[in-house]
Amino acid sequence: MADNIVKLRPARPCPICGKPSSQQFHPFCSARCADIDLNRWLSGAYVIPAKQEPEEGEEEVDVVIPGGGDDEDD
Ligand SMILES: [Zn+2]
Repeated sequence: MADNIVKLRPARPCPICGKPSSQQFHPFCSARCADIDLNRWLSGAYVIPAKQEPEEGEEEVDVVIPGGGDDEDD
């Protein structure tokens, strides 16, 4: 009886590119695809909610103009 059938896990394609995944980078096919997936997670985890900065009151700038009598004739 030679029923030594080793059942291999069904090979799942790389979720990134669809290539057969490798055991080393399971479930991805390569480190690159694993990295891409990681970046996707990170980019999703760091979603910055759009902040609406409260509008500051109109800044009133008082421009002080020095008297224009600065002519010294001599
Ligand atoms: Zn891949």
